[in-house]
This record gives sequence, structure tokens and C-alpha cells, in this order.
Amino acid sequence: MQFSVLASSSKGNATVISSGITHILVDTGISALRIRKGLQECGLTGKQLAAILFTHEHTDHVCGLGQLAKKEDLSIYCTRYMGQELRPIAPHARYTYLEPGSPVQIGDITVTAFCVSHDATDPVGYIFESNNKKLGYITDTGKIPNGLTELLQGVDALYLESNYDPSMLRNSGRPLYLIERIASHFGHLSNEQAGDFVRSIAHNGLQHLVLAHLSQDCNTPAIASAAMRKVLDELKLPTVLHCAPAATRLPWLSIN
Ligand SMILES: [Zn+2]
Ligand SMILES: [Zn+2]
Repeated sequence: MQFSVLASSSKGNATVISSGITHILVDTGISALRIRKGLQECGLTGKQLAAILFTHEHTDHVCGLGQLAKKEDLSIYCTRYMGQELRPIAPHARYTYLEPGSPVQIGDITVTAFCVSHDATDPVGYIFESNNKKLGYITDTGKIPNGLTELLQGVDALYLESNYDPSMLRNSGRPLYLIERIASHFGHLSNEQAGDFVRSIAHNGLQHLVLAHLSQDCNTPAIASAAMRKVLDELKLPTVLHCAPAATRLPWLSIN
């Protein structure tokens, strides 16, 4: 299995996951043009996608969907209530509703959705499994939900939100309600929360860790990476640390 992040920040998110046979897109939070260009850089076209999965309906996760749906025959996987938000944007797509905790098979990739804690409609994260390899995908959650640590034990790779540095958020000059929303249990994970989660699932087989959904105002790749590097060094993990860029593609990462 391999994955490539097309874009990741508070402004737009999309990731391709591939077993080599089955190709899946997670979220369409950048323009259709950028998605097509990103797929092309991955050696793929929209027609080769077996499915598009969504984490939730916020603009930075869906904004390219309307344009994509005009030209492609899409197969969308999401939770039922999230689907009600997406249907007006892509009325002609085929919808498959996911039940958190119940695995579904998409080609040779097994997908299991799990609930996250975010101010959206029925939001989820995902576990992707293929060829005995496991990728965890967690973004847009204000806290690590109960049971997730157990569920993600032994993942070979992890895509993990590391949204904000708490002191940068406090001093951001943003309105208080927005600061409180981001830091709440229904907001986003801080660099520290992301570090605590990695501590809880740490094992030597964790090959790749991708820090994702960095705030462009309340975090920097250098600060987020330094915070996580400290955790990985403390734990003496051989994990390769990546920071998903906001505007360019993170090339394929292979899970061996
Ligand atoms: Zn988001
Ligand atoms: Zn969101």
C-alpha cells in the first residue's frame, strides 16, 4: 500500500491511497483542477479512482466535489448524515453509507471508518488495510475518541492532524470564540495532543508518520515537526517523519 498527500492544511485537503490495484481518494478539499493535476503527478486519472471517501463536509474537505462530479462518474463513501450534506453538491454520484466500526471492502483495500470529535455532521477517520499493512487516517478532531488508541495499535503508517501550537493560537489575534472552538473537544488536535497520541500507539513497526492539517496562522511545519521529533526521539522510534505541505504534493510513501 502507498499514499500521497495532494494537499493538507486548514485551507484544503486531499489524499490518494493505493494498493497498486485499487486507488482511493480521501476528501476533495482543493479545486478539481488541482485534484486532477495531483492525480496526474501520481500517475493516475479520475477514472481510475474506485471511490472517494469523505471525513466530513467542511469546505476544506469537499470544495472540489461539485466540479469533479460534473465530469466524472463518482462512487462516494461516507456516513449517512454526512451523505445528506454531500448529495446536494454531487446529486448524481453513487453513495455507499459507512457504519463506523464495520469494515467494507473496496477492491483489495479494507476500509473501516471510526467516529471523531469535530463540529461537523457525522465526521469520521479511517483505517485502510491491504496486503497485511495498515494505515491510520485521523484529521479534524478536537480529541482522541475513546477506543481509538486500541483500534490503531500496530498501524504501519499514520496520517495525523497536528493543527496548532497552543501559544500561537492564544496569541493569534483571532476572536475568542474562534480560539475556543479550535481548542475545544470539537475542534482540532494541537501539536501536543498529536504527540500524546503517538506515544499511546508507539511501536517499532510505525514506518511513516505524516503531520497533517497544519494551521497556516497558528502553526508552522518547523514547530510541528520539532514537537513530534522530540516524541519520536524520546521513544527511540525509527519512524520517518513527514510534514504534509499545504500547496504541493507529498510524493508517494510506500508502506512495506
Ligand atoms: Zn479541515
Ligand atoms: Zn473540519
